[in-house]
Amino acid sequence: MEEFHCINHPDRQAVHQCTRCGKPLCDECYNPETQTCRQYCNTLSTKPTLDPRPKNTFWQVIVALLAIVGALALLLAAICGAMIYSY
Ligand SMILES: [Zn+2]
Ligand SMILES: [Zn+2]
Repeated sequence: MEEFHCINHPDRQAVHQCTRCGKPLCDECYNPETQTCRQYCNTLSTKPTLDPRPKNTFWQVIVALLAIVGALALLLAAICGAMIYSY
């Protein structure tokens, strides 16, 4: 049988396991408050970084549309200019 050893201390036997990443941990590296490893997953703020506000996506679509319209207008102007100069 293979023993689990702490990822930070290979000479120590792992007595805990991180509930988030599953890494084997010794007493020193395990945080009982968060039940995670101190080095990698010890972040008390578990709030997701994504902000699901539809307003942002709405404005992103508006800006994208404006950019497309602007690009088309520029293209049209360039074509018109080229046609005028070709005559
Ligand atoms: Zn972890
Ligand atoms: Zn350790």
